[in-house]
Amino acid sequence: MERCNAFGRCGGCSLQGVEYEEQLKRKQAAMETLLGGFGRVEPIIGMKDPLHYRNKVHHAFAKDQKGRILSGSYEENTHKVVMADNCLLEDQKSRQIMATIRKLIPSFKIPLYNEDTGTGLLRHVLIRRGFTSGEILVVLVTGRGVFPGRSNFVKALRAEHPEITTVVQNINDKRSSMVLGERSIPLYGPGFIKDTLCGCTFRISPDSFYQVNPVQTETLYGKAVEYAGLTGKETVIDAYCGIGTIGLVASKHAGRVIGVELNPNAVRDAIANCKANRISNARFYQGDAGAFLRAMADRKEHADVILMDPPRSGSTREFLDSCVKLGPKRIVYVSCGPDTLARDLAYITKKGYAAEKLQPVDMFPFTEHVETVVLMSSVKE
Ligand code: SAH
Repeated sequence: MERCNAFGRCGGCSLQGVEYEEQLKRKQAAMETLLGGFGRVEPIIGMKDPLHYRNKVHHAFAKDQKGRILSGSYEENTHKVVMADNCLLEDQKSRQIMATIRKLIPSFKIPLYNEDTGTGLLRHVLIRRGFTSGEILVVLVTGRGVFPGRSNFVKALRAEHPEITTVVQNINDKRSSMVLGERSIPLYGPGFIKDTLCGCTFRISPDSFYQVNPVQTETLYGKAVEYAGLTGKETVIDAYCGIGTIGLVASKHAGRVIGVELNPNAVRDAIANCKANRISNARFYQGDAGAFLRAMADRKEHADVILMDPPRSGSTREFLDSCVKLGPKRIVYVSCGPDTLARDLAYITKKGYAAEKLQPVDMFPFTEHVETVVLMSSVKE
C-alpha cells in the first residue's frame, strides 16, 4: 500500500497502512458494538477502489524556510501547514490545480494570509469537481476584498487548466477557523458547478454542503430511498436537506416532498435544483429543522415518512419529539456521527419507534468516520 509523507501529521487518514478489507472489518465491529443493541447491523458497504475519492479539496497556504509555497491541511491544533506529496484521498485533478496555484502565487506576488496577525491576502483555496459533469469550481478565499491582479491570475490559471468551469473569490475577513466568509464574487463562470447523482442534476454553490464521496453517495441515497418504502403517494419530509439531494431523488417516488435546511444559500440551490430537474412536487424552506418540525406538529400536519440527515452533532430533542408527534410510519436517519446517532436512537426508540435496518456505508475510506442509514418504523402498526 502507498504511504503518504504527511501521515501522522496531517490527521487526514488515520487508517493509512491498514489494508482496506481490515478497515472495513474494524468499522463493522465498531458499529456492531455501538448500534447492535438497536438491531442487526448489515454488513458495511465498502468501495471497489477506495483511493482519491474526495471530490472536494481544501488547502491552506504557507511558505517553508526557503520561501517555497506549501499548501495542505493544518497540523492538528496548530496553524502549521502540512503538505502531502501523494495524498491518498484527494481527487487527482484538483491536486494538479492546487500545484499550479502554488506555482503562480510567487509570479503574481500574492501575499499569503497570516492567521496569527490577520495580514496578507490568500487564506485558502477550495476546489470541487463534479463527479459526472467534470465541472470544476475553484474558490480563492481572501482575507480582504481588494485582490490586485486577480483577473490576470484567473486568466493564467485557466490557461493551464481550461477544464476549470468557474472561479470565485470568497472574502473571509474574520479571525476565525471558518474557511469561508459570507461574501462570494464570481470571477469567471457562473459561481457554482453542477453534478449528477441518482439521475438528478444538482447545482452546488461554494458554501453548500455536498457529500465528498460521490460514488458512495449514490449507494447511500439509494438505501435511504429504498428504506423510505415509497409508493408514489406519501408526504415526505427531507430534514437537514442541504441542496435538496435526498428529497429530490425521493420526490420521483413520493406524493410530495417538504425540505428544510438552515443555510440560505443551500436552500436557494435546492429550489433551483427542483426547477432544473422539472420536479413539481417538492418545496424547500429555510429554517431550523427542529423549530420547523415543531410548527408542523403544532399545526397537526401529516407526514408519512421523515428523512433526516443532520450534521455530526446529531439531532435535537425538539426535532425528535416533533417527529414522534407527527407520527410518520417510517423515519430514515442518515448519520455521519455514529455516537450522536446512538444517542438519538436511544431516545426515539423509547417513544414508539424501533430500528428495523441499520446499514453502514463506507463514505470515508482511510479515516475512522462511518456513515449509517437507519430505518425506524412506528411500532403502532
Ligand atoms: N442531506 C444533505 C445535507 C446533509 S449535511 C445532503 O446529503 O447533501 C447536514 C445539513 O444540515 C447541512 O446542509 C447543514 O447546513 C444543515 N443544518 C445544520 N443544522 C441545521 C438545523 N438546525 N436545521 C436545519 N438544517 C441544519
